[in-house]
Amino acid sequence: MGTCVVTGGAGFLGSHLCEHLLGQDHRVICIDNLETGSLQNIEHIRDSAFDFRYIDITETVDIPEDVDFVYHLASPASPIDYLRLPLHTLKVGSHGTHHMLGVAKFKRARFLLASTSEVYGDPEVHPQTEDYWGHVNPIGPRGVYDEAKRYAEAMTMAYHRQQGVDTSIVRIFNTYGPRMRANDGRAIPTFLRQALQDQNLTVFGDGSQTRSFCYADDLIRGIVSLAESDAHMPVNIGNPNEFTLLELAKTVIDVTESRSEIIFEPLPVDDPQQRQPDISRARDLLGWEPTVELHDGLQRTIKQAGVERLVGASD
Ligand code: NAD
Repeated sequence: MGTCVVTGGAGFLGSHLCEHLLGQDHRVICIDNLETGSLQNIEHIRDSAFDFRYIDITETVDIPEDVDFVYHLASPASPIDYLRLPLHTLKVGSHGTHHMLGVAKFKRARFLLASTSEVYGDPEVHPQTEDYWGHVNPIGPRGVYDEAKRYAEAMTMAYHRQQGVDTSIVRIFNTYGPRMRANDGRAIPTFLRQALQDQNLTVFGDGSQTRSFCYADDLIRGIVSLAESDAHMPVNIGNPNEFTLLELAKTVIDVTESRSEIIFEPLPVDDPQQRQPDISRARDLLGWEPTVELHDGLQRTIKQAGVERLVGASD
């Protein structure tokens, strides 16, 4: 099997990807600067084919080995993180992506960029297909993340068209599962933390804004099958089942059998009203679709992560 470089491999999704690739008998070089990830996410991996390297990808990246796949996931991903690290977020999307595309070019490796549904901004089109160009505010506080990913997509296509690098782009929609950080500000870990402690669940706005939630195992399966395909254009990977934030809060209370109540707080700036992937391209090209329903995924998250981690006691 091949050698895979995973940037952001000590993060939430990166750590699941490393495990999955090792399970397929790949060698995995996990690169991370632990800015938002943690060694706790990978400490259970006991495999001689796994190698962790502490590298900041905005600096020079030197990998002596031959490489077959570069999975480029490194980037702050939750609003709490990218609002705290605006310049770093822009640098990871620009310098970091440039360095990793350089590695893929030099090694003749297949490259996968982890992009995001946030490239669509607050969409005027619903559900979002890959052909929709988006509606993004470049100068709002969230612009650092959205524009970094849009720039990273443009650079990936330029390396493909001008330099002949074998590239792919996955547009990831909201994903959840074990190893999300309890305090990372995203809806599912926040609701789980609050519900497991019988605290009020804080819903922004009136809770009518929608999201779709993909379980981590489904997403990783989609990412790997895209990397192993010959597709070059962006592919949405996410769960098309759409829920309002209010429905999500009620489901979390149900799954955790919590005594929590729901309270409402003001909407954050530029928070999208609707978010739902059209996954026709993933179905057609990869034969991929998600299999884990929200209720089941939440139960698996609680079982695998454990209550202590979900309430932040070991964050
Ligand atoms: P995460 O914060 O858990 O993981 C990101 C990882 O990147 C962390 O381990 C962090 O330390 C590392 N990193 C950041 N800057 C780095 C640098 N300069 N050098 C090396 N490592 C660096 O986030 P995640 O949720 O696992 O997201 C992973 C990727 O998926 C991101 O690119 C994100 O934009 C994308 N994504 C995630 C979601 C989601 O719902 N989780 C949705 C859309 C897109």
